[in-house]
Amino acid sequence: GTDQAKQEAKVLRVGSAIDFAPFEFQDEGQKDYQGFDMDLIRAIAKEMGSEAEIQNIGFDGLIPALQAKNIDVIISGMTINDERAQKVNFSDPYYQSGLTMVVRSDEEAIKSFKDLKGHKVAVQIGTTSANMVKDMEGVTVTELNTPADCFMELKARGVDAVVNDRPVNDYYIKQTQAVGVKSLEDKLSAEDYGIAMAKDNADLQKKINDALKKLRENGEYDKIYQKWFGT
Ligand code: GLN
Repeated sequence: GTDQAKQEAKVLRVGSAIDFAPFEFQDEGQKDYQGFDMDLIRAIAKEMGSEAEIQNIGFDGLIPALQAKNIDVIISGMTINDERAQKVNFSDPYYQSGLTMVVRSDEEAIKSFKDLKGHKVAVQIGTTSANMVKDMEGVTVTELNTPADCFMELKARGVDAVVNDRPVNDYYIKQTQAVGVKSLEDKLSAEDYGIAMAKDNADLQKKINDALKKLRENGEYDKIYQKWFGT
């Protein structure tokens, strides 16, 4: 009935692939998901008078989950692109990203993206990195479930490079103090992250955009940004 509908409206069902630090991750022994996206979507939900209920879903399962109405929004470092925009509505951009490479510290042959030819590369399945690398001639691509799996494969010498989102690569290098790996300067493409909603939910898209705008105006967005990316 109406009461139930009101109750449900107070919960914003969020899907995210919780393996993308510093955007979404879970530290050992920690109950709550944390990261830039997690703080941002909680603040957006609060602004909308609801509460974010976050579900951990594999990255390539996020859009299907949205289409099946199992979740209301996706926030998962998801790049806005035409292919996805045919299936979902995106919010205004909330973070400027791009792709870079991580290689082993002793790597001499790979210095830029054009050097990938003739090499093995790991990427996360269903991502813009995967699309990009699969289009490159002469590159052997291994698609794995998470960036963490990709970095492990690199260290195990199963591949020569990982292509992945720049801020995630930078954070990984910083966290591991660059033991055995380094990230390269060469940047491929500029990408904007967006929050995704179902195609038939223009109302929610407007609410999310309004909340995002408000958080940018009242300084809350900057606070969250500084927390995760400040120097
Ligand atoms: N930004 C990339 C994409 O949208 C990767 C996102 C992710 O792995 N969470 O494909």
